[in-house]
Order: sequence, then C-alpha cells, then structure tokens
Amino acid sequence: MSVWDPLRGNLSIESLARQMSADDLAHSWLLLGSSGSDKGAAAVAMAAAVNCEVAPMLGCGDCSTCLRILRHRHPDVHHVSPEGTFILVDQIRESVIAEATRSPFEATSKVFILEEADRMNPAAQNALLKTLEEPGPATMFILLSAREEELLETIRSRCRVIHLQRVPEEHIATVLQAEGIATDKALLAARVCEGDLHRARSLTGSGRAWERRSLWLSIPRRLTSPVDGLDLAAEIVNEAREAVRDREMHQKDEVVELAEALGEGRGTTSARNALAKRHKRELRRVEEAVLAEALDTMGSFYRDVLALRSGGESVTNLDVLEELGGWADSGVSDLGLLAAVERCVSARSALSKNANVPLTMETTMLELTERVPPDSRAGVRS
Ligand SMILES: [Zn+2]
Repeated sequence: MSVWDPLRGNLSIESLARQMSADDLAHSWLLLGSSGSDKGAAAVAMAAAVNCEVAPMLGCGDCSTCLRILRHRHPDVHHVSPEGTFILVDQIRESVIAEATRSPFEATSKVFILEEADRMNPAAQNALLKTLEEPGPATMFILLSAREEELLETIRSRCRVIHLQRVPEEHIATVLQAEGIATDKALLAARVCEGDLHRARSLTGSGRAWERRSLWLSIPRRLTSPVDGLDLAAEIVNEAREAVRDREMHQKDEVVELAEALGEGRGTTSARNALAKRHKRELRRVEEAVLAEALDTMGSFYRDVLALRSGGESVTNLDVLEELGGWADSGVSDLGLLAAVERCVSARSALSKNANVPLTMETTMLELTERVPPDSRAGVRS
C-alpha cells in the first residue's frame, strides 16, 4: 500500500512520485493540468509522502499521518481554496503567510495546498511571493492550477512546474479492470470520465454515484412538460442536498478527531476556525459537484444524439445507445439539441459563479422542455 496507489496509471504523477522518493524536493511546486488530471489527489499524496513516519518520501498510506492527510484531517496540511470567486489578499495573509511562520504541530513539514491558485488576484499573488521566496525550513507549497496564464510569471518562476496529463481512455479501462471492475462497467466509466482516472474510480467505486448517473440519464426522457421540468429541477436539487447531508455527517467525525488530535493549547482556535471554514466551502463544493454531474450528464446525452446523427463515432453514453438511437431517428431538431447542450454548459458555469441553485435549475429545465419539445420526440422509445 502506498499513497500513490490510487494514482497509479497516470504517468506524469508516477514521475512526480519518483522525484519525491529520490528526495528531489522543491519548496514550492506548481502542478498544472485540466480538471481530469488529478492535481488535488497528487498534492495530497505529496503532503503525505514528505510527512509519512513509516516510509518517508514514499508515503505508506497506512500510518496515522498518511491516513489523516489523505482524509484532509491533518493539522499541518492546509488546504486553501477560493472563498467565493477569488482568493483575496486577506485570505492569503491569514491562512498562508501568518500560518507559515508557525512551526508544525507534529509533522516534519507544514504543507500548503493552494487549490485553483490562478484565482488569487494579483494582490494576493504578490503577497504570497515573499513567502515563496523565503519559505521556512519545514514548509512546502503546492499550487494547483488549470490556467497557468492567470499566474504571475514571478510566481511561476519560483515553483518547480509539473505538467499533469489526462489519462488515455484505454488506460483508464485497463486500470479499472485490473482493480476488479467488470469489463463493461470499466469501459463505460473510462469513456464517461474523459481522461479523469480519479472520477472514473469514484464513479465505479460508489454505488451512489453510479445510481445518480442513471437518474441524470433518465431526465431527458422524463422531461415532457413544464410541470415535469419543475419537478425534475426539485429532484436534482434534493439529490445534491442529500450528498451535502452525507458530507456533513463525515464532517462531524472530523471535528471530533481534530479536537482529540489538538487537545487544548496553542493555535487550537485558529485550527478549529480553519476547519469550520473549510467545511463550509466543502459543502458548497459537494453541492456544486453533484449539480455539475447532473448538467454534464444531461448535456452529454443531447450531444450523443447529435453525434449519432453524424456517424456516431464519439458517443459517450454507450449504455443507453438504443434510447439515443430512438432520439436520433425522431423529429427533434439539431438546433434544439445544440441549444439544450449549450444551456447545460451555461447553467453549470452560472452555478460555479454562485447563481441561485433552485432558480438556475428550474429555468434550465423549463428551457430544455422548450428546446427539445416532447411532441418532436414522437416515436422515441423509452
Ligand atoms: Zn505513512
């Protein structure tokens, strides 16, 4: 067992693991890659590897330090992500600069993982610069970004830059099969997850995520009137809230664990506040992720119908091919389908900018009913 196990198969991450095991370390790292490149999981594995008590620089994945870091429950590994649209200078001063001057509670190295580092505004990036230039001896910074161009050159030049690649579809399927996932399911998950091994694993690993996918795929067929649209919007929102409630249960355990780990003493209030803030962000992200899942899956359904009409080479949802075929043969217009795909994309982007959730989902569902009207689908098998 190793902290890198869940990332096996991603060659750029394997190379990163080799650098660490050879003790070839940098104080500041910049991991670049799109959403499917497992940047976050790689950063957490790095934090565990440098701090593992059993297998230093490798990360055994089993000791208490590794386990708590992997679960984001270690007081010396700080996750910083945007509170709102940007990471502002105050957040960098409070959560990074001030914190970096304190010595670690218990770990060898204090690690700061800056998620979506490109969302630091220029003032925040400039504030961080000095700390990156003169880091404490036991401090490591890991910046994550999908948009390198948004980062100041001065920041980039102070980091060791690692480009993470997406994982080829065939490779994801092979990895999942080797891990005991049935061939059909492995092939489908590899196709659906578009190069994101981590997402493919969570889809095949959790019964709930797999069930949710069937629910999202049933929506286009059930969307037959504006009233249905509103009902389905409520169903999607409820599903997201259910996931939020699940996460809240885990968070309660985490609060207890942190209290036990820290006891009463120096810095405990700031650690507790940081945890409470992280929890709040995490809940918003869980909700956003489930809604994004719904919109992405519905969008991919409509896109698949278009793909079938133009030869069918790039169909994603191979498990509902027959239903997609029915839609492709129906009177639904290409323009309507295209508008439906676009609506799913724009709703997703609105939600990432804090749009009102129920309202966005309702207007989206109503627009989908209008763009792909039920009477145009005569003959669609369901
Ligand atoms: Zn360990």
